[in-house]
Formats: sequence, structure tokens, C-alpha cells
Amino acid sequence: MIHTIVFLLSIIHFSTTSTNHAISDFLLILFSLSLSTNYQFHPDMALPNGLSTSHSRTPLFSFAVIADVQYADIPDGRSFLGVPRYYRHSIHVVQRAVTNWNHHNNIKFSINFGDIVDGFCPKPDSITAVQKVLNEFDKFDGPVYHMIGNHCLYNLPRTKLIPLLKIPSDNLRAYYEFSPCPEYRFVVLDAYDFSALGWPGDHEVTLEANQFLREKNPNSDKNSPNGLIGVDRRFVLFNGAVGKEQLRWLEGTLQDCDQRNQNAVVCSHLPLDPGAAAPEALLWNYDEVMKIIHKFKCVKACFSGHDHKGGYCVDSHGIHHRCLEAALECPPGTDAYGYVDVYCDRLSLVGSDRMASTEMIF
Ligand SMILES: [Zn+2]
Repeated sequence: MIHTIVFLLSIIHFSTTSTNHAISDFLLILFSLSLSTNYQFHPDMALPNGLSTSHSRTPLFSFAVIADVQYADIPDGRSFLGVPRYYRHSIHVVQRAVTNWNHHNNIKFSINFGDIVDGFCPKPDSITAVQKVLNEFDKFDGPVYHMIGNHCLYNLPRTKLIPLLKIPSDNLRAYYEFSPCPEYRFVVLDAYDFSALGWPGDHEVTLEANQFLREKNPNSDKNSPNGLIGVDRRFVLFNGAVGKEQLRWLEGTLQDCDQRNQNAVVCSHLPLDPGAAAPEALLWNYDEVMKIIHKFKCVKACFSGHDHKGGYCVDSHGIHHRCLEAALECPPGTDAYGYVDVYCDRLSLVGSDRMASTEMIF
């Protein structure tokens, strides 16, 4: 029987490195069934290959996740691909998420992955809409960390957003890091640091970013990826890049994590790996960012939002990439939020409803 367990565990481990987490979920269920029906398994028992069940140990801490709320007090609509969007319902997803996280009783902090308000929100109502969602997040028993998404920037300039979202900032840049315990560091990127969105029209970043888009995207509508091939489809107006100064900050922060023997989790509105998201959703310079990340051993996982359907993969360096399913696209009564149990050797995302659960072993 023990051979069967080891065999199943190795399949599960392999399957978590593929893009198809549905298969790994199925295998985990199969594995659980095999334990419950055929084998008396002591919770603290180590397996011959050195693995033990994470469920037998208490997490170091847990944190909550939600993405792409895109709230607006407007009737339901559809994405440009025809996917239904429930603008008024998404705030109810936040309400249920906060209630659930508070009931859990042991969630240290929450991370909102950006796009708190939708671009269709009438501009005079933007601040009220953002504040309304923030009031719901304020009911959470712990700090909430926010990041900037493209829809936030359609509604409000950085000068308004950064204080509203209480993002620690230098020069209106919105990248920062924090360490919830000595073993872990969270690095939050500003994915629109270099972008044609959010800076004043005559700002040097806006001018340079528009020039960059003209070179990379021949369409008159720069939101359109038509004619662009493969990962080049990311060169659209609704995406952005990590700027040079932020890249240097990222490298310095990760170097420090390595020296302190910390695990790092990178959070970004825009996804960083083509295996976890559509090419149209990627950070313009995801390759440059990943080149830096791959220089260090500390980064174990990268979380993102933006690509509403969600996704998961493990890259060539064993880093887990999890793009989270959007709260906006939950039909009334359904949810997409979760929490992550953090261990020294794994992250275990427990998703609600439309957010898939994911075991990330490293
Ligand atoms: Zn977005």
C-alpha cells in the first residue's frame, strides 16, 4: 500500500507542475480516498520519500486573497469577449469574503489584487465607488494590502488612488514589501509604473509609454492585440511594465531575502508567466522581471489578477504562478475569493466556489 501512496504522491507532484490543476485536484481526491479507505495514516507520519502531509501541521500563518472586484453601480454587462460581468454583485462577493475570513479567525492579512472599480463606473462616482468597496474591506479583522490595476487608473489618477488605497509610496510609485513573519517576505509590484495609463498626459512616462506602444502595436486602437502573435499580444494599452528603478528595487529586495533565508511571494496585478494567463494579460516586461526573480532562490510563488478566468503553472525554475479568478464574473450568489495557508515548504490556496484550490509545493 505504501508504494501506492508514494506512486500517487509522485503523480500529484508531477501534475502540480502542469497547467492542468483540475487533474491534480482529481488526483488529490483520489489520494485522499486511498488513504481514508485503505490505509491507517498517522497525521505526523513521514513518507519514505521525505514528504509528509501539510494538513498535519499548523500553518505559519494564513492570508486572504481576492482579485478584480471591478465594482460599479451600473447594470450587468459583458467583456469584449462576451463574458458576463456583474458590476453590482461584485461588492457582495467582497462582503461574503470578509465575513468568511473573519470567521476563519486566523487570517493575518488580506491582499486585494487590483481593479477595485470598473472602467465603466461614471467618473463623478469613482471615489464613492472605491470608498464603498474599501468600507467593506475595513470590516476585515486585519490589514488589507492593495495594488493598482488598469481599471483603477481609468477612474482615478495616482495622486488620488495611492492615498485612498493607503499604498506606501515614494514619488507616486505603488510598489512595496512587507514581512509578516521572519520566514516570509511579500513583494508587491506596481505593474503600471511604466504605462500610458494613470500619469498626466504630458508626463514623461506617458510620452515614453505611448512611443513604446506605437513601436510594438501597429493597431490604431492600442487596446487591440489584432495581428500580434503569441506573447507579443501583451503589447496593448491596458497593460504596463515595471520601470527601471523598480527593477533595481526588486533585485535588491530579493537579494536581501536570499541573505536572510526568507521565502518570497511576489504579488502583481499583471501575470508574470504565459503558462498561467492569456498572452494579452501579461506584464509588458514579464521576461525582464522573471530574469531577476530567477537569479535568486527565495521566490516560491507569484500571484496575480487581471486575467479573469484565472490560471496556474509552475515555471522552469519551480516557481508557482497563480492568476486568481475574478470576483466580477461571479453570477449572483456565487463567489471567487480564498485564503492561503503558508508553510515553510508549501502554500495551500483554499478557494471558495469559482476560485480553484491549489497546492503549491516547493
Ligand atoms: Zn486589470
